[in-house]
Amino acid sequence: MIDLLLRGGTVVTATGSRVADVAVESGRITSIEEDPGGRSADAGEVVDAAGLLVLPGVVDVHTHTRLASAAEPDRFFQDSVAAAFGGTTTFLSFNNPGTGSPETASRSLLAGLGEWRHRTEEDAAIDYGLSVAISGGMEEPIGDLPAMVGAGVPTAKAFMVFDFRLGGRELFQAVRAMGQRGGMLQVHCEDPVLLDAGVRAELAAGRTGPDGHARSRPAYVEAVATHRAMAFAQAADAPAYVVHLSSRSALDEVRRAKAAGIRAYAETCPHYLTLTEERYSGPVEESSRYVIAPPLRAPADRDALWEGLVDGTLDVVATDHVPDRLAVEKADAARGVPFDRISNGAPGIETLLGILYSEGVVRGRITFERMVDLLSTTPARLFGLPSKGAIQVGKDADLVLFDPKASRVLRAADLHHTSDYTPYEGMAVSGAVRSVFVRGRAVIRDGAFVGRRGFGQFQERLPPFG
Ligand SMILES: [Zn+2]
Repeated sequence: MIDLLLRGGTVVTATGSRVADVAVESGRITSIEEDPGGRSADAGEVVDAAGLLVLPGVVDVHTHTRLASAAEPDRFFQDSVAAAFGGTTTFLSFNNPGTGSPETASRSLLAGLGEWRHRTEEDAAIDYGLSVAISGGMEEPIGDLPAMVGAGVPTAKAFMVFDFRLGGRELFQAVRAMGQRGGMLQVHCEDPVLLDAGVRAELAAGRTGPDGHARSRPAYVEAVATHRAMAFAQAADAPAYVVHLSSRSALDEVRRAKAAGIRAYAETCPHYLTLTEERYSGPVEESSRYVIAPPLRAPADRDALWEGLVDGTLDVVATDHVPDRLAVEKADAARGVPFDRISNGAPGIETLLGILYSEGVVRGRITFERMVDLLSTTPARLFGLPSKGAIQVGKDADLVLFDPKASRVLRAADLHHTSDYTPYEGMAVSGAVRSVFVRGRAVIRDGAFVGRRGFGQFQERLPPFG
């Protein structure tokens, strides 16, 4: 018995596109045929997809969603709804300090995982998972990594900067320990010595606004750290995944590493593909919106990143979603607090697919198929989600009906995330998400949320290189 049949849409996979009907039974894709021959009469539900693209749901592997709290009980749920509106069907979160994880999470990875699973249970509208953040203050973080992989968390993130940074020796050990278990370490690449010196120089010169933030961390600070991460991967014969790569010089490091056979992977984000450093020149209320790390770069960096998406140097596009609010987390900036002590991050969980389609596919920079690869297929593969990321018989029916002919202007007021702004305010984009299905169940239907809180399942992931 077919539960759901999407009829007559253009099915896009990482390798090609064709008009076909997609049949779903018990939450999984059971056939992709051009003419299922009258079987629609038996289907529980038939959705006319003519003129629409049928895409695999986006797998956003980089978010910093906030946990629900007594004061803000809907924070995690609401961002999962926003993700669904944008065509995302699975997201991974980090539990780094600032996301609402308790003290225990910064002392022990396993205690942090248990607490996070408990606090997110029955809360998400779409499927979700955790990539743990390894903090320098932990007692035995490296020793816990094999158990984390066994518990369905085969990726972890370490930071070279911030006060929860990991020292060089521990970082190298973490790359190796994850690789030995078939997992993968994600690395925030900025050099702490150069960064601290840059911050001190800006503050000493009295340049305390968000433009000082950008000047304090030039591209070479990212590039030298990326080079080091690549060397760690080489020495450990283990994979290393560079998160939120932002500059041409860091991209060159990954390109060289890949050419040398190092197991290097890299991700960039929509903001580095569309916005540039001139955003820091406005008044603080404006420029603080873009205080993110790494910062926005020059137009030449942005253009180089698009080339990296085409030539395969970059493997994934993910959001680095931080649901900061101008009125709350970012409010310090308007009060004159120096850039090194204001909250880093910007929202993006709802705008990923729309921006990549509009700025990438419509402008002719990447193909439909490459977009699907970058947003769904490769992230599912690299992060141990074998039932996700592609329209294939046997996979979860995580499907997006996308209208390529629609157009709209992005406005914070129209978005559903728990931030109070969007970095893309006023940007005209082509295309629109019409309906979203997770395991065959409608979560968004004709642009309206029809899902259920708690429907989303925690994904116990497999070691991607196991
Ligand atoms: Zn991040």
